Amino acid sequence: MRIDPKIRREKMVKEQVEARGVSDPAVLDAMKRVPRHLFVEEALAARAYDDNSLPIGEGQTISQPFIVGFMTELLQISPEHKILEIGTGSGYQAAVLAELGADVYTIERIKKLFMRTRKLLFEMRYFNIRVKLDDGTTGWPDEGPFDRIIVTAGGPEVPQSLIDQLADPGRMIIPVGSEKRKQRLILVIKANGEVIEEDMGGCAFVDLVGKQGW
Ligand code: SAH
Repeated sequence: MRIDPKIRREKMVKEQVEARGVSDPAVLDAMKRVPRHLFVEEALAARAYDDNSLPIGEGQTISQPFIVGFMTELLQISPEHKILEIGTGSGYQAAVLAELGADVYTIERIKKLFMRTRKLLFEMRYFNIRVKLDDGTTGWPDEGPFDRIIVTAGGPEVPQSLIDQLADPGRMIIPVGSEKRKQRLILVIKANGEVIEEDMGGCAFVDLVGKQGW
């Protein structure tokens, strides 16, 4: 018997996200609204609410639900924020950010994913998300500064362009590591002209490929 996606979503949020410490009601509600099964290939739709990342083609992945909730909560998003995401992929993370009412600018470097996701987000009427095909490690200079920046691929360092395009005050969350598929989640906080970095724990993202990435 097919289980209603809304029920699967509520169970996913409760058991995988809330149970592990994400408590911001706005983030939990946003994740309950986004139909994650529409962001994966049809053959994988039955597994869309599982407790792991899933392939989305081109060697890339849609992030695990918990990590999406954890990173989103760390950003402390308000509806008036302008947000930059590097690594559009399936568009799922961008949709969660858009559900929080913010304006989302998202960059993907693989054309096939960019084309597919731009179409999907348009069909889903996420008109507050703009998608660009480019190397996101240099940011989106014409649109900066951004109140919040989220990078959903892992590189060897925090790209200087992204620090420069972060507003003051601003917050950025980014996986960083000298080994591939094994990074630390770094929270970059800019305030009063100063930039500090906090280590929020281990994670495993696909490669951030580009000028200021691998
Ligand atoms: N946020 C995505 C996660 C996708 S995986 C989601 O919710 O599905 C990370 C994505 O980052 C991949 O699609 C990969 O192609 C992309 N990527 C890697 N390096 C990039 C770069 N320099 N600029 C933009 N996108 C990049």
